[in-house]
Amino acid sequence: GRVLLTGGSGFIASHVLDALLDAGFSVVVTARSEEKGKSVVESVKPHLLSYVVVEDIAKEGTFDNVFQAQTPFDYVVHTASPYHLNVKDPVKDFLDPAIKGTTGLLKSIKAHGATVKRVVITSSSAAVLNPDNHAKVYDETHWAPTTFEDAIKHPAKHGYRASKVLAEKAAWAFVTNEKPNFDVAVINCTYVFGPIQRNLPSLEAMNASNHRIRDMMQGKMRDGILPTRPVFTWVDVRDVALAHLRAMTVPKAGGNRFYVVGGHFTNKQIVDIIRDKYPSLAGRLPADAVSDLPDDVYNFNNSKSREMLGIEYTSLEQSIVDTVKSILEAITPR
Ligand code: NDP
Repeated sequence: GRVLLTGGSGFIASHVLDALLDAGFSVVVTARSEEKGKSVVESVKPHLLSYVVVEDIAKEGTFDNVFQAQTPFDYVVHTASPYHLNVKDPVKDFLDPAIKGTTGLLKSIKAHGATVKRVVITSSSAAVLNPDNHAKVYDETHWAPTTFEDAIKHPAKHGYRASKVLAEKAAWAFVTNEKPNFDVAVINCTYVFGPIQRNLPSLEAMNASNHRIRDMMQGKMRDGILPTRPVFTWVDVRDVALAHLRAMTVPKAGGNRFYVVGGHFTNKQIVDIIRDKYPSLAGRLPADAVSDLPDDVYNFNNSKSREMLGIEYTSLEQSIVDTVKSILEAITPR
């Protein structure tokens, strides 16, 4: 089968790509420049892989010629969406690329991608959780109440969350209203740790959710560990990648969202794992780390992802060990 994978230069996408290629799919990734596309293709050998440049997913009709010019696709996996911490304009930086990027892609598939059977979309636990009034136990029935107006009023607090929940709602509305040729499955993964992508140009370009691990390794928390909040749950990127693959291939996954979460964590646990497994880094770590997991922290129910997608969640220790290893490899001259 043939898959179009959007946002191919990204962290999660790099692991989705590995999972797709391992499973024997041929893949076309979208990347924002020739340079990024080439670096993804060169990072994977041998490959049934090519790239196409899609500079800005927010641009109207930008995916049309991808479907017109390429050999027909069987599946589309949509990971591209902004996830960073330097928001200036919430509409330009988050809402437009997330929402218009998703609906634009679905429109182009409906118009020009008749062979596509399923679209898997990377949403987020940001589209599930309600931090101002947490549920006791979250599952796929929960929806973040965040609105467009929230994002405009408080870009730093709500911009990203609004972009994810509104993009996901727009996708489900598209399916209901447009009755397209394909069905949709959604991955609502929580905060993701795991090995950085092979083609990462620099540690500054690292995906946001691995920053705290990098920062600890660089000694930035030596004199004081940062609080774990506002996120207290995590998942390994390889589990997230497998969830995307299975959501694509398991017939009954269509029409479902999957809350993909591996466990609770604190920054203290991460520090302890790094100190224990990488003693040479101990001098850069805070000595007095304390656990700051609230007693009443929200819980999660990940049984749907385990039962329908067969995900067996990676341990925090394994994930941190492998993440640190990948960062050390990236900074060690070859
Ligand atoms: P990355 O920043 O590594 O990947 C994001 C990708 O989207 C990059 O390839 C980026 O391209 C691309 N992208 C962003 N904006 C645009 C745009 N306007 N036009 C075209 N491409 C764009 O982050 P992740 O891998 O972590 O995130 C991937 C997906 O997973 C996102 O949808 C994110 O919301 C979701 N997610 C991530 C979580 C996490 O903890 N990491 C948790 C839950 C969900 P470029 O780098 O060239 O800008």
